[in-house]
Parts: sequence; structure tokens; C-alpha cells
Amino acid sequence: MSARFIFITGGVVSSLGKGLASAAMGALLQARGYKVRLRKLDPYLNVDPGTMSPYQHGECYVTDDGAETDLDLGHYERFTGVAARQSDNVTTGRIYSDVIAKERRGDYLGGTVQVIPHVTDAIRDFVLSDITDEDFVLCEIGGTVGDIEGLPFLEAIRQLRNELGRERSCFVHCTLLPWIGAAGELKTKPTQHSVKELLSVGIQPDILLCRADREIPQNEKRKIALFCNVKESRVVSALDVDTIYDVPNTYHQEGLDNEVLRFFRLLGEDEEGDVDLKRWTDIVARVREPEGGAVTIAVVGKYTVLIDAYKSLNEALAHGGIANNVKVNLKWIESEIFESEDPVPYLDGVHGILVPGGFGERGAEGKIEAVQFARERKVPYFGICFGMQMAVIEAARNMAGIAEANSSEFGPTSEPVVGLLTEWMKGNQLEKRGIDSDMGGTMRLGAYHAKLKQGSKVAEVYSEAEDIWERHRHRYEVNVAYKDRLEKAGMIFSGLSPDGELPEIVELPDHPWFIGVQYHPELKSKPFDPHPLFASFVKAAVEQSRLV
Ligand code: GLN
Repeated sequence: MSARFIFITGGVVSSLGKGLASAAMGALLQARGYKVRLRKLDPYLNVDPGTMSPYQHGECYVTDDGAETDLDLGHYERFTGVAARQSDNVTTGRIYSDVIAKERRGDYLGGTVQVIPHVTDAIRDFVLSDITDEDFVLCEIGGTVGDIEGLPFLEAIRQLRNELGRERSCFVHCTLLPWIGAAGELKTKPTQHSVKELLSVGIQPDILLCRADREIPQNEKRKIALFCNVKESRVVSALDVDTIYDVPNTYHQEGLDNEVLRFFRLLGEDEEGDVDLKRWTDIVARVREPEGGAVTIAVVGKYTVLIDAYKSLNEALAHGGIANNVKVNLKWIESEIFESEDPVPYLDGVHGILVPGGFGERGAEGKIEAVQFARERKVPYFGICFGMQMAVIEAARNMAGIAEANSSEFGPTSEPVVGLLTEWMKGNQLEKRGIDSDMGGTMRLGAYHAKLKQGSKVAEVYSEAEDIWERHRHRYEVNVAYKDRLEKAGMIFSGLSPDGELPEIVELPDHPWFIGVQYHPELKSKPFDPHPLFASFVKAAVEQSRLV
């Protein structure tokens, strides 16, 4: 393993877009022909974000190998196309639970177990693990420099600098230059303080990535360089952009990739090297000037107040727009509204309706109302995970006449059209769960194989594929025992697990576009490779927009 490591820290304030910055840096190094991997070290005590509320922490991203991770891993995948893995995200909670398990086993042979070296060693081992032929590993440290819980991570990367040497490690620090209107100036002081904070734990940043809402004057860069002990050319501006997919281009224009490569002596001080950014310039052109106009999709969900709760969904819909050269406007609607109000004024005239993933009873009946509207009015409908389950309940009640149809997620029911999944196959292995199982890490998680019914709409969407692998995250499942009754009533089960036990996809042939999927296709969509379901759904919305 000869990978070079880039450690990305954040200072001044949170929400600086460090995740995006790391993802864009990864994309730039790829555009130079290097192989990259991105990782996130999260200082909070949860073992993983799987049990955290989307209101607090945003979406929980899921990898093929079934890890529930921070949403930044979604950015990493969308920008680089490199599938993230279990070994790309760790938290203080995971590190501590491993260290404590080792202590209980007696692995420390009677020694005193301490933050330094045991916790820091565990972090170090994690950073260096599971790397093969990557040229660069980018490790983002969550949180802000100065946070108490971040200290062991900073200490671990400080030690790694000694171990790897300057030739194989680089510290990039993201900061903010706030604009003070009264003074008419971008202020450098918070950046200076943040670098001091980093120095106090023994880390001298090599490159500063400075967020600002306007051009940073050269004399301010000079000042930062002087006070922070960084070369002037390595004080790089990270200006606000109108689309996140322009970040690789703007970083390149500001010289970030050149500075990283010069730091590692992969480029001479005056050399520029070759870079191919066509992928990103094309995407930005399509986002900025969609030739085909715009469509409006209603997203009827629960966590609509926090945009990060549906991060990947948001992006995947934008990718669907890129694929069809249209802008996709989203109309976020709290489903609970439909439990007391008529959905018609909200949904009339939208070109597509999407019910995303969700948990719990609140708002479920409102989602069922939205499904019914889409089905009866023949508006394109896309149900994802919970959105598929609600579509099946709606069909059972209103098409198959099973009035009591419901999900056992909401309590005992005489017609569990959606029920708790207690046993299923993962590859050749039988997975078992009960009502009393832990909540953390026990859902059906990660990539599972599904067989598509030939001649169905989804087989067409997936270019006549017979087998697909998509990512799951759910505890309940459409009950295959109702398959025949539903199919007789007109809802086709067009995707099933290989053993035929788990319904993966349902569709209505008698409708312009009505598909429900038990998995989360949004997790695999990329701006340069839009997921076929999103491309097809947005296409159907474009067709719908010509009718209304
Ligand atoms: N609450 C549902 C379940 O656990 C759906 C989950 C989801 O939409 N991700 O099965």
C-alpha cells in the first residue's frame, strides 16, 4: 500500500460544505487520472447514524455492503462513482465499542486502556485499513476543530503524519471568511484563530480552503498565508456556486488540484499537468440551461422541513432532469396535511408524485391519499420503500377490496399487507429478526438481488435486464401472500427476490407510469450516470406536462 493520505478538517463554523469539498477534491484527482477513495471519521458517540433522526442528522446513506453511514458518503459516491464501503465511515461510538470489546476479551493483557494510545491506535488502524491500489485516500474529519469529541481523531492524524511522512500525508483545512458589511471586508481573523487551534494539537495545515461569498483579494490571501504559515498559493478560495456540480471546476480554476499535486511533488512548481473536466462542464451546462423547460414533481413525505433528510433523493431527481434536459422543480408537501385537507388543490397540475422512504404511522394515511390521487388521475407515481408499501396498501384497499389492509408497522392488523420481516436470505445466509431485536443495524440493509419480470415496465426501464442489485434499508416488507389477489386486481409484482419471497417492485400496467420499489434507487444515482428509474420517471413527468 503506497496511497497518499489527505486529511480534511474544518474550522470556524460547521456546515461549511467540507463533505462536498472532499468529494470535489476526489473528483479532481480522478480527473488527473488517479485512483481515489474517500472516508469520513465522525466524532459523535452513536455507533452509526442508523438510529439518528433525519431531522437532526439528515439522511442515513447506505452502502452496497450494508453500512448505514453519514450522508457525506453519498456526496463522495456521486462525485467519484467509487462505491463506498463499510470501511469508509467510522464514529467514536464504533471505535470505543471495539476497544471496549477487546478490553473485555482480555486482549490488552492487563494494561491500562487509554485514549492515547488505544483509541488513537484504533483510529489509525481504521484509516489505514482496507486500502489496495488507491493513489489517494481522502479522510474527512467530521465536526469543527476545537470540539472536545474531535480531539482523539486529530491526535490520530497528527501521529499519522509522523508515520507516513510529509511525502504521503497532507492536511487541508476548510475555513470561512465572513463578509462584514459595515467594514466592507472579508475577515481573516476567524481563519487565523482556527489554524491556531489546529496548531495547538500539533497540526500545521498545508493547504487552506477558504469559503467566502465573494472573491478573496490577493492581499487578504497574503495575510492569511503569513499568519497561518502556509504558502500564499496554497490559500485557495472556495467561493459559493449556483450548482454543487460546479465545485470541481471552480476548485480547479482556483488551483486546488495543482497545489495538492505540487505538495506531493507529483507536479513541479511551475507545472500544470493534464486534467479532463469535460464530465463536469457538461453537467453544469445542462443544469444551468435545460433546453427542455421544467417539470414539477410533488414529493409527499414527512421530513420535508429539512432538505438534508432527502439528500440523495433530491440529487437523483436532479439527475433525472439532467438525463432529460429539463429542470426538475420540487414541491415538498407534508403528507399529514392530506389527513385533514383535500389533496386536490395541492396536487392538481403537478407532473409527477413521489412518496419517498419513511418511518412510522404519522402521515401514512396522507401518503395513501397521494397514491390514490396519482393512480386515479393517471399522474406518474414513484413510490420508494415506504412509498411502495403505501402504494400496495392503497391498491389492496381500493382495487382489491381489502378494506382493512394495513402495515403492521402501525400496530396489529387483521390484514398485514405490509408486515414485519423476520427471516430472509442474504446470499446463502439466513438472517433472522424479532419484534424485540435491537433497533441499530438490524434492518434489511445493503445490496440485494432482484429478478425482473420480462415484458414489464421496469424491465424496459432497466434496458431489459433480468437481474438487478439495489440498496435496501427497511424493517417491513410487502407480504407476498397477497400477491395473487393484488395481481388479479391489476397491480403486478414485476420484481421479486430470487427465491420469490420478497416483493421488490410493483407496477400498474394500466397507468402511464406507476412504479413502487422496495429499495432506494436514489442512493446509486450519479450526475454523470442518472439512475434509470429517475431518468424514466422524469421523462414520464415531461410527457405529463404536455398533457396538462
Ligand atoms: N418504515 C418502512 C420499513 O421499515 C420503510 C422504511 C423506508 O422507507 N426506508 O419497512
